Amino acid sequence: MESIMTELLYQTDSYLKEFQAVIVAVDDENHGVVLDKTAFYPGGGGQPVDKGTLTAGENSFTLKRVKRIDGQLVHLLDGEGEIPQIGETITGMIDWQRRYQLMRTHTAMHILCGVIFRDYGALVTGGNMDPLKGRMDFEFETMQKELVAEIEAAVNAEVKNARPLQVNILPRADAFRIPDLIRTKINLLPEGITEVRVVEIDGLDLQADGGTHVKNTGEVGKIKVVDYKSKGKINKRIYLELEDA
Ligand SMILES: [Zn+2]
Repeated sequence: MESIMTELLYQTDSYLKEFQAVIVAVDDENHGVVLDKTAFYPGGGGQPVDKGTLTAGENSFTLKRVKRIDGQLVHLLDGEGEIPQIGETITGMIDWQRRYQLMRTHTAMHILCGVIFRDYGALVTGGNMDPLKGRMDFEFETMQKELVAEIEAAVNAEVKNARPLQVNILPRADAFRIPDLIRTKINLLPEGITEVRVVEIDGLDLQADGGTHVKNTGEVGKIKVVDYKSKGKINKRIYLELEDA
C-alpha cells in the first residue's frame, strides 16, 4: 500500500461520536481498511484504543482495533464479512460510553499531574489508564501515605473549580518556547514531528498530548486517590479511580 495520511478528527473534536469517511485503501491480509479521516482514537500516551463499529451499506463490522501498520492507520474489522471496497463511504460509530469515560479519566490524570507539580514540584514520568481508573508515575521522593487525602482533596477542588481545557496545534518551534512544556519531556518528541498538539487545563496543567479530553474539569466527576506504591526511593506510582457518573 502507498502511504496515506488519515485526518485525525478526534484531535480537534473529541466529542465526535459518529462520522462518515471514504475508504482510501484496503488491507486484505489484515482484514482492514484505511480511511481518509477517522474519529477512532488509535491508542497512545497511556490512553487505550477506541472500540466501535463501521458500517458500509448493509454490512456492519465491529472494530477490532485501529493499528498503525507500515505508517498507516488501519481499521481492523472483526468477522468474516467481505471487506468494503476503495471509494465506498462508511459510517463509524464510537463506543461512546467507554470513550467518554476515558476522556474523563485522561483529564483526571492531567489534573493530578498539575496539582502534584504545583503543590510538591514533582514531575510525571508516565501513566496508563482504563475507563474510570488510571495510574501515574512521578519523581516524588517525599510522597507518603499522609499525603493521599491531601492530594485527593486538591484534585477534587480543581474539578469543582470547573477549569476549561484548550487544545492547540502549534508549530514545533512555538511549542518549544513554552516553558511549562519542557517539564513534560517535550524534548523526547521525534525529530520529524513539525506540529505539537498541546492540551492545557487553564491555570493548572499544560502538556504535549495526542489524547482525548473533556472540555472542562467539572465533567470529570469525583476522583478517588485509591493507592500509591513506591517504585524505588524517588519513583512513586499513584492510583486513581473515578466515580461512575
Ligand atoms: Zn495525557
